[in-house]
Amino acid sequence: MSYFSDLGLAEPLLRALEAKGYNDPTPIQQKSIPALIEGRDLLGLAQTGTGKTAAFSLPSLHRLITNPQPRKSASCRMLVLSPTRELAAQIAENMRGYAKFVNMSIQCIFGGVPAGKQARALVPGCDVLVATPGRLLDLIDQRAFTLRDVEIFVLDEADQMMDLGFINPLKRIARLLPQQRQSLFFSATMPQAIEALGKQFINNPVKVEVAPQSTTAERVEQRAILISQSEKQALLTMTLRAGLAEGAADPIERAIIFTRTKHGADRVVRHLTPAGIEAAAIHGDKSQAQRTAALKGFRENRIKVLVATDIAARGIDVSGVSHVFNFEIPNVAEQYVHRIGRTARAGADGIALSFVAEDERPYIRAIERLTGVKLKILPLPEDFLREAARLPAPAKRTSGEMQDAARRDGGRRDGGRRDGGRSEGGRREGSRSEGGRREGGRSNNDRRLSVHGDRPRDGARSQGQREADRARGERRDAERRNRDGAARPAAAGPRGARPAPVRSQFDPLRENVDAAPRGNGQRRQRQG
Ligand code: AMP
Repeated sequence: MSYFSDLGLAEPLLRALEAKGYNDPTPIQQKSIPALIEGRDLLGLAQTGTGKTAAFSLPSLHRLITNPQPRKSASCRMLVLSPTRELAAQIAENMRGYAKFVNMSIQCIFGGVPAGKQARALVPGCDVLVATPGRLLDLIDQRAFTLRDVEIFVLDEADQMMDLGFINPLKRIARLLPQQRQSLFFSATMPQAIEALGKQFINNPVKVEVAPQSTTAERVEQRAILISQSEKQALLTMTLRAGLAEGAADPIERAIIFTRTKHGADRVVRHLTPAGIEAAAIHGDKSQAQRTAALKGFRENRIKVLVATDIAARGIDVSGVSHVFNFEIPNVAEQYVHRIGRTARAGADGIALSFVAEDERPYIRAIERLTGVKLKILPLPEDFLREAARLPAPAKRTSGEMQDAARRDGGRRDGGRRDGGRSEGGRREGSRSEGGRREGGRSNNDRRLSVHGDRPRDGARSQGQREADRARGERRDAERRNRDGAARPAAAGPRGARPAPVRSQFDPLRENVDAAPRGNGQRRQRQG
């Protein structure tokens, strides 16, 4: 008898779990399923990777199965709200898997694709609707859907919803839901504002908290390299090249690179491609078709490197991600935990490598305080500067990218609403990075000094030379500051990079940086 059957789930669900090869419920499933079967509301403090999708899906499907009702037109019995398109699609896919031995209609709607087809699919009504808030409201406003029959309401990734500015859409949706319903509210973090939002939806909930944020982090080997912003691209290219090479001593199976902005993500891809590293970017400015194709390629292991912004990658579950690279360090410590949670999933170990520029060091300290885990500081590979100067120049923007950019600009002039961008933050994300503090954390000055900025090839060597001089100076200064043995012996260089002699570098763990982390208390940084 499987452990799941002890939780009282209906037989077709147990069969589906068996088919999926799930033997035991995860802690969040053990804690949530019995209370949810009873019909209680739930406040869940949990991040992705804990099994929370099944934790809310299984008991909800159980309730729908054991209390069958005829479908009503343009209506649903269970509503799941997700902040992003990818997460919505993933939840719907998971739920279809759990419901594969019962007759359930599970629909999914999100922005970035034409609304007409989605509206037509909803006409006969469905059992479960998974939606992003903006597109749902668009369809409700068009009278293509009603929430009056919702019996079970799930709000997933509430903190991410707030970050994306979905607070008002959520309040509107709350007013449209029937009073009599079961509500489940999940968030990876629970600051006061999120708790207050939760109170608008849930009533006398069971509280479930699993895997405090540090737990995932503990399973990931966390490394950092201190490096100037302008050297990051070269280091990334070299590290990936070495780790992806056939027979690499320390192989990279699959990697996600996190950048702060959409433009930053595209730029990384443009640098990796001529270096022979196939990579795809996923962010809010990409069309839905491009995002889907990139994720599919990554899931099917045809593309080994995915370059993503935080928003686009949140909640994405791809197994076998061996490495997460933080090309830029987030100034909100929790975001770091979400990022590195893309690796070390389902108990596997993973490696997170953070490229830390001088102005990002306070963020690292905030992250270490949150996770309770010290990052292992690695030296730069010995031959870094020589190798960096040899890397090919970045590819030009493809005509597709140019067209996308032109379309986006046109879209903005139109108000950008018709394509449903609003529903998942497409337009929002656009305005975010554009209005962001800076692009990829680089000042104009930085960009001028870039080893391989987006510039014509013949200019690259001299830039590289200038940057090398500057970097050497930076390191000499750091050595002076750390003279009393601050250098930390590193056990190994970055994966695949040649072992380097221990070299003194500026060390965020030891150096007395006066600036307080601008992380949690401060306005969240804009991101793509
Ligand atoms: P989630 O937190 O919902 O994103 O789930 C993380 C991953 O764990 C997904 O790939 C699920 O399919 C998987 N998973 C969920 N529950 C179980 C379970 N009881 N046993 C094994 N894998 C599970």
